Amino acid sequence: MEIFELTIHELSDKLQRRELSSVEATQTMLARIEATESRVNAFITVTPEAALSAATAADQRIAAGKGDMLTGIPLALKDIFLTEGIRTTCGSRILENFIPPYSATSWEKLKERGMVLVGKLNQDEFAMGSSTESSAYGVTRNPWDLECIPGGSSGGSAAAMAARQATATLGTDTGGSIRQPASHCGCVGLKPTYGRVSRYGVIAYASSLDQVGPVTRDVRDCALMLGAIAGHDPKDSTSVDLPVPDYTAALPGGVKGLKIGLPKEYFIEGLDSDVRKTMDEAVATYLSLGAEIVDVSLPHTDYAVACYYLIATAEASSNLARYDGVRFGHRNRDARGLLEMYCKSRAEGFGDEVKRRIMLGTYALSSGYYDAYYLKAQKVRTLIRNDFLTAFEKVDLILAPVAPTPAFKIGEKVNDPLQMYLSDIFTIPVNLAGTCGISVPAGFSATGLPIGLQLIGRPFGEEAILNAAYAFEQATEWHQRKAQI
Ligand code: GLN
Repeated sequence: MEIFELTIHELSDKLQRRELSSVEATQTMLARIEATESRVNAFITVTPEAALSAATAADQRIAAGKGDMLTGIPLALKDIFLTEGIRTTCGSRILENFIPPYSATSWEKLKERGMVLVGKLNQDEFAMGSSTESSAYGVTRNPWDLECIPGGSSGGSAAAMAARQATATLGTDTGGSIRQPASHCGCVGLKPTYGRVSRYGVIAYASSLDQVGPVTRDVRDCALMLGAIAGHDPKDSTSVDLPVPDYTAALPGGVKGLKIGLPKEYFIEGLDSDVRKTMDEAVATYLSLGAEIVDVSLPHTDYAVACYYLIATAEASSNLARYDGVRFGHRNRDARGLLEMYCKSRAEGFGDEVKRRIMLGTYALSSGYYDAYYLKAQKVRTLIRNDFLTAFEKVDLILAPVAPTPAFKIGEKVNDPLQMYLSDIFTIPVNLAGTCGISVPAGFSATGLPIGLQLIGRPFGEEAILNAAYAFEQATEWHQRKAQI
């Protein structure tokens, strides 16, 4: 197996045994990026010099016996994470030249462990999208089929994994942005419970929904990465002060006697036949492993997309008010007067989807409409959360599709925002409920595109979904297939 194809735990073994240096691994990865990037466009910025000097430091650390499982491992980050001294655009023209003065806590934690940053990954502008087509830095292509989208908004994070351009990546998930691209690109992606991982230094989209999580090659790597980034952060008041379990220790627990719920509202007409078949086979696999399958209902599912697009856009319109051309970001230099400068800077800096959402959100929050839209959506959100809590009285976790179809063609939904929004129907409720979900490779479409399986857990139930995902991975071979690129 090529070095760039290894998992974290495989590569780490080689580094610790000194069969290979981090500098060699990093050079191989950089060469791989160079060889594939013109076809995939997963990166906005590649950082070869910083990577090689970090790799040199990692090798010294390993030689001194001070390395751990993550030391020297090549990593890439969605361009939504602030990285001190390294350009961070969030996929937007408005931040084209923005060099952050500090780093996100999640990146700080990985850097402290000696991970090696090889670059910043493409994404939908401000994480608004499901296809990475709203990026100001070009479309990312799905390594399994270059005509298809990789999913979004963390499309670069998943495409880079599928193209073997990084050993692990981080993404963010506000309404599905880790799980859906992971599903479309055949990787493992986990959205932790709201509050599990610090959001400090992560550019805010919808603050009550955003979470940071890993995209990896297998479940063990996912557990490792989650353990490294989780935990309380005094700099993020929404991060919860709960102990961080050893997520890898829980993995070989098996699923015997585990109660897995199938929500009837998720197995509807319109679900792609390959996706349905994949779910049926996954159910059969779990039954054969000794799990029990139980029907459950999440009765407010139908309202989730509408509810999400009120709350997310309302929060976005407020969060994005800071990009006014005054303190940072793009500024129009020809404007006469302050108001004109604000208007022109924002008109030039933001793309169409971002503008659409700022307008929607501003409308939903405006006086006279606030009660009818924003407040109502908050109430519906509580009903959706209660649906999950009620289901979890009966079952340990919930099995569902990640997306209603495999990856669609580039351009297919760009001019139909509603169709694009509907593609998140199975992931959005998890964010509204504030709980955790994972996507694991579970099959392929007739045309050879990966299909992921979603396991949804109780709040702070990451151990249970990781363990069940691991059992599935051990029983199947889907995660071993590789995109031909
Ligand atoms: N596709 C959804 C949206 O556009 C979710 C994006 C995300 O999770 N960041 O808002």
